[in-house]
Amino acid sequence: MSSSASSPKAAAFSPSSRALMMRLWHDYVSTHWRWLLVATLLMIVEGSTLGVLSWMLQPMFDRVFVAGNTSAMWWVGGTIFALFVIRAVTGVAEKVILTRVAQLTSTAMQTDLLAHMMTLDSTYFQTNAPGSLIERVQGDTLAVQNVWQVIISGLGRDVVALISLTVVALSIDVGWTLTAVIGIPLLILPSVTLQRYVRRKTREMRFSSMSRATRLDEIFHGINAIKLNGMEAYQLGRFRRVVDRIVRNQVRKEAGRAMLPGLIDVVTGLGFFGVLILGGREIIAGDKSVGQFMSFFTAMALAFQPLRRLGGVAGVFQIAAASLENIYTVFALHPSIVSGPGAGVRDVSRPEIVVEGARFAYGDANVLDGVDLVARAGETTALVGPSGAGKSTLFNLLTRLVEPQSGWVTIDGRDIRDMPLADLRGLFSVVTQDALLFDETIRENILLGRTDIPEARLRAAVEDAHVADFADDLPLGLETLAGPRGSNLSGGQRQRVAIARALLRDTPILLLDEATSALDARSEAVIQSALDRLSAGRTTLVIAHRLATVRGADRIVVMRGGRVVEEGRHDDLLQGDGTYAELYRLQFAETAPDGGSE
Ligand code: ADP
Repeated sequence: MSSSASSPKAAAFSPSSRALMMRLWHDYVSTHWRWLLVATLLMIVEGSTLGVLSWMLQPMFDRVFVAGNTSAMWWVGGTIFALFVIRAVTGVAEKVILTRVAQLTSTAMQTDLLAHMMTLDSTYFQTNAPGSLIERVQGDTLAVQNVWQVIISGLGRDVVALISLTVVALSIDVGWTLTAVIGIPLLILPSVTLQRYVRRKTREMRFSSMSRATRLDEIFHGINAIKLNGMEAYQLGRFRRVVDRIVRNQVRKEAGRAMLPGLIDVVTGLGFFGVLILGGREIIAGDKSVGQFMSFFTAMALAFQPLRRLGGVAGVFQIAAASLENIYTVFALHPSIVSGPGAGVRDVSRPEIVVEGARFAYGDANVLDGVDLVARAGETTALVGPSGAGKSTLFNLLTRLVEPQSGWVTIDGRDIRDMPLADLRGLFSVVTQDALLFDETIRENILLGRTDIPEARLRAAVEDAHVADFADDLPLGLETLAGPRGSNLSGGQRQRVAIARALLRDTPILLLDEATSALDARSEAVIQSALDRLSAGRTTLVIAHRLATVRGADRIVVMRGGRVVEEGRHDDLLQGDGTYAELYRLQFAETAPDGGSE
């Protein structure tokens, strides 16, 4: 189906870093332009203080030191002090403003990215590991948050500093100034090559970071399996290989980044050397004063830091570009399962579900091979069949978690593709074996954020779902934390919480995937009675593993290899002596003592 459309490779693109920055500016940064303008103005003030500072060295040497003018000492000293105070104040203010803008930008991006990802088809989440997606939302947005800060600091403070220092230098001697910058053209070619290199290494590093997050996610989720299979060393080995790659790429990337400021050092050194040879002679000959030379030399020395920083901007640019590429690749993906154009269906009270000729495959593997099925209004239809027959996939088809390649599903005669997704899914309550609980209290896990449920109704659901049976014995009752993924509760308890949720949801259709795990006879009876109460009066489809459910079902649909092979009532199917009779005999043999008493 849409797996190729959702694959990140399909939409991969590699636009220029400038185009990416412009897009970032347009989408996230430009709304903060007022604050950025303030920051830029502050930077201009801060940057120009350097020019003034170097210029002040001329009166300091020529008037104070050489001419011995003590009153000049006061105003020269006072001015220099004032310059430093201005630098301090503007420096702090800029930092606060830019940090705020950077944070607002990256968090807005994170929120948008998450919102967009949640619209993508479930196949996207089957092909992209959760760890790598977490890294994308957190890591990639972090890598771009500072880029505008760097650009604005560069343009505001450093460029202005350079301009003001150049003006001072030119005012002293044009020849000296030209000598000082003679090496700069030498920087152009290496700079282009280095930028490409940094971007490539950053890309590789981001990729390794995603692998690292995936490793960690898998290890922490599978910790019991890892311990039981003695896989600690194996997993550590895999982790180490990933982090080794990160170290290698990070070092190379940083080396690439440092190279440009390094080259600037060399070029500046050349400039100093040239100016000393040229200027030294003129001073010795008495054509220029020591103050002029000191002022020029200071301007050059002060230009050094901004120049190095500007050299670094290119690196930051490339690092951000590599992450932006990742981010915009995700934004370029679009879900193939989208809301239908039709109106909602909230008034449906006892809907009939019809599946016709549904085919579904993962790649070449046929999972549903032309399924026809009717789930009659208000009745319980049991789906039975060996594992891998396609029962869960059929469930996912009904709620449009996956889309059939051909065939269709109607509810109450309406094609589900015509309905808004939220309305469609609002018709269903789904209770599966692996009910997903969140690391919140049992109460919150049942309410799922709803605030409109009166306490009495909650209590009734808690009783009917037999949650009360275990929760009331806990010291904190419903306020007990369920633990990460509900790990503080047993499988049967989690399922009861899920049933309570479904009771509160009170939807006309119920999809049940019964627990196969060996529950003890009492828990099984408790859950069965909770499920019976839940399914009463609703159109219920149940993936049945238990004999009791199957016997009681209004209709039984037997699936095998992605097809419906038999359907009917228990007794008829048993007499038919087909797949159902075979499955039944197998289960009956296994559960004979219990089954016999049921
Ligand atoms: P059942 O619920 O009857 O046990 P499922 O609907 O879960 O069967 O699975 C039907 C088939 O689809 C199985 O053979 C399974 O291996 C395959 N399948 C399920 N999910 C995927 C997936 N994400 N990618 C490829 N094959 C899958």
